[in-house]
Amino acid sequence: MRRRRIAFFFAWTAAGAWAGERPAADLIVTHARIWTVDRAQPQAQALAVLGERIVAVGSSADVDAWRGPHTRVVDARGRRVLPGFNDAHVHFIDGGDQLTRVQLTDAATPAEFARRIGERARKTPKGEWITGGDWDEQHWTPAALPTKDLVDPLTPDTPVWVSRHDGHEGLANSVVLKLAGITAATKDPPGGAIVRDAAGNPTGVLRDAAQSLVEAVEPAMPHEQRLRAARDALAHAASLGVTSVQDMAVDYADVAVYSELAEQHALTTRIYAAPLETHWEDQAKIGLRHGFGSSFLRLGAVKGFADGSLGSETAYFFEPYTDDPGSRGLLSSEMQPPEAMRQRLQSADAAGLQLCIHAIGDAAISMTLDSFEQIERTNGKRDRRWRIEHSQHLAAKDFERYARLGVIASMQPYHAIDDGQWAEKRIGADRVSRTYAFRTLLDHGVHLAFGTDWSVAPLGPMQGLYAAVTRATLDGRNPGGWVPAQKITLAEAVEAYTLGSAYAEFQEREKGSLTAGKLADFVVLDTDIFAVAPERIRDAKVVVTVVGGKIVYGKP
Ligand SMILES: [Zn+2]
Repeated sequence: MRRRRIAFFFAWTAAGAWAGERPAADLIVTHARIWTVDRAQPQAQALAVLGERIVAVGSSADVDAWRGPHTRVVDARGRRVLPGFNDAHVHFIDGGDQLTRVQLTDAATPAEFARRIGERARKTPKGEWITGGDWDEQHWTPAALPTKDLVDPLTPDTPVWVSRHDGHEGLANSVVLKLAGITAATKDPPGGAIVRDAAGNPTGVLRDAAQSLVEAVEPAMPHEQRLRAARDALAHAASLGVTSVQDMAVDYADVAVYSELAEQHALTTRIYAAPLETHWEDQAKIGLRHGFGSSFLRLGAVKGFADGSLGSETAYFFEPYTDDPGSRGLLSSEMQPPEAMRQRLQSADAAGLQLCIHAIGDAAISMTLDSFEQIERTNGKRDRRWRIEHSQHLAAKDFERYARLGVIASMQPYHAIDDGQWAEKRIGADRVSRTYAFRTLLDHGVHLAFGTDWSVAPLGPMQGLYAAVTRATLDGRNPGGWVPAQKITLAEAVEAYTLGSAYAEFQEREKGSLTAGKLADFVVLDTDIFAVAPERIRDAKVVVTVVGGKIVYGKP
């Protein structure tokens, strides 16, 4: 490899403590194949870390100059090193809790679904709820929604409230329907639906805003359980090389747990937390903006919802669903009416808060862009980095608007290879051509930020990179890629998952590439994903994860 000039980081000289003498590095990683995501120096062999920051990136020989008697030297033996992954959209506590909850995602039949819930009910202390599950009836034949009758006989005393994997529907058993007071006489709330049988009786499935009828009676997660979920989530993230997460729609109790862990120096993943926009005043009244906080825990954004999801047919489109001509989907309860949401967002924006808005259908996305345009006209121009979470199905006219308004497309490539199995029958070929449109977005100069939506999808970044590069659906039916014109390169996908996500949280000067001066967050892989066939990317494993110069996973 060509010798490269190495960049030095002289910030410590300001403290005067070193008086011209260069300190030795705490950690050097050498003989590596480093993909830096720094366009000024895309590849390198070695890097040196002092404290929590990178001080040098370059050839092994050059970086060796930083070696001292106490420097820990990790010989990567030719392994691939990347910046740590930054998941721009997670539900971290939910994900951590899910690691130990009943698992329904791969229940292949309604009978297996019921069996797992029954087994869990036998182990669940009286009065405790069975929640989570993340079921997906699209794997069943026929793909019919589950009903309470499947689980009622197995759960006579146990409250069961299990969610569809996208969070837009839940199944309640009769115990929960009774606690929530839901009967045939209960009216559908705005933005939601109580699914009913032919006789008009609730089947147990509650769609979108109707879920709040149960949430109103569901006991809050106890603090100990929340703390345990956070610790489990942190360990899981470290094992997968996820060194930063952006936690969308956090509860304040989640923030309390993160603060407690930060106090104990127990955070091994950096967290940017976005509470709901309906409570924007809470952050505004104490002057929180994205600049506030530590490198491990920051606030300053709000998360909002414009619509539902494609899977539950609640994503909001201009034209009806191809397989349900009577429906265009649903706007969220927050958008009842849209002007009320716009007013709140405008106030939140005026207070300096970043806006992260969930919008999936083309009409929901367009309405969100309309709101952004109006807010910019009212509040003036500034560097706001508005985000549209998911950005799944764009109208042709809106790519240019993303670029013009500087809106970040915060996307989850794994959803593409999952939805791609059935999306076309739901919305037809024309809309599908602009679905998860990574290539068109990049070609328009739009900033991409990648993540997973964990626990909706698995947290592992390799599956996301694989999905963005191959677009090969999970059912194996599109080996050449589903809508292959929207594939992107591995380098582009890695950038979206590191520097792109850092940009989406205003942290691109602090992290997202392996550059002298930045936080030392990086991973060592067992496979060089740039050298293998794209189909093998998803099998690559992280062997070492370093956050702020500390090894948080693996043994060098
Ligand atoms: Zn989400």
